[in-house]
Amino acid sequence: MADLAALQNDKTLQTACETLWNDLMLTKVYVTGGLGPSASNEGFTRDYDLPNATAYAETCAAVALVFWAQRMLHLDMDGRYADMLELALFNGALVGLSREGTTYFYANPLESDGTPTRWHWHDCPCCTMNVSRLVASVAGYMVSASDDTLAFHLYGGIDTTRTLGGVATRVTEVSRYPFDGAIAITVDPASPADFTLMLRVPGWCGKASAMVNGAAVPMVLDKGYLRITRRWQAGDTVALSLPMRPERVYAHPCGDQQRRSGRAAARAARLLRRRGGSRGCGPAPSPAAGRRIDRHPKPAL
Ligand SMILES: [Zn+2]
Repeated sequence: MADLAALQNDKTLQTACETLWNDLMLTKVYVTGGLGPSASNEGFTRDYDLPNATAYAETCAAVALVFWAQRMLHLDMDGRYADMLELALFNGALVGLSREGTTYFYANPLESDGTPTRWHWHDCPCCTMNVSRLVASVAGYMVSASDDTLAFHLYGGIDTTRTLGGVATRVTEVSRYPFDGAIAITVDPASPADFTLMLRVPGWCGKASAMVNGAAVPMVLDKGYLRITRRWQAGDTVALSLPMRPERVYAHPCGDQQRRSGRAAARAARLLRRRGGSRGCGPAPSPAAGRRIDRHPKPAL
């Protein structure tokens, strides 16, 4: 539907897509970018029904969210879509595949006693196919371009040659993103050329900074992107710093799991640690060791 909205310049379709997107983001998406809590219908149930242990959050659904987020991003270049693309790519979709690439998750529970393990194969092998095509096409999600603009949506090692401002231009980006936010970009037009670089500053990053050839650039963002328009020369450099401060993320109080868990849980919020675009997981605090989950007080809303 988003593609059709773009092809036909149909604002009514775009508005419908935005309505569906906003509903999803406000009430139906896991903090990992996972979608769909229910195995019975492989889909949605009711608002804020986001259980951890029984989360279905099929790998295919996260892959689909990556696809959709990119289409929405291309409708109006709003960084909120790229933020979700990143979240679903790194945390909802790729985690479905083992590091060896030989086994995979179909469902992705956010809480486990160790019982669920990745499949070698599944009677319904949709997820492995979808992850395979996503991995094979992941370069297509990093940047997009028009005649006079190159937009960076993700970082992590990019080498692309495009015609920008009418001039063949090689642009390289070097970083350890998403593990480190130090981004180094080199711009090499075949001859001096006028065009714009758009650099995504993720929504999770509060103190980004940028320099061109060592000179600071004012951090004025347009829908989450820093636009740098100038006459580019061969060898120009851009340094973008995206500090990744570890942060706590608390569950929405409407989450059903909290309501069912009674008074003890009501005093504490479900808590996740994030750093940059990555979401963390680890062993639960051990009551025997004197570590209580409600050491982390629920924030006032
Ligand atoms: Zn699937």
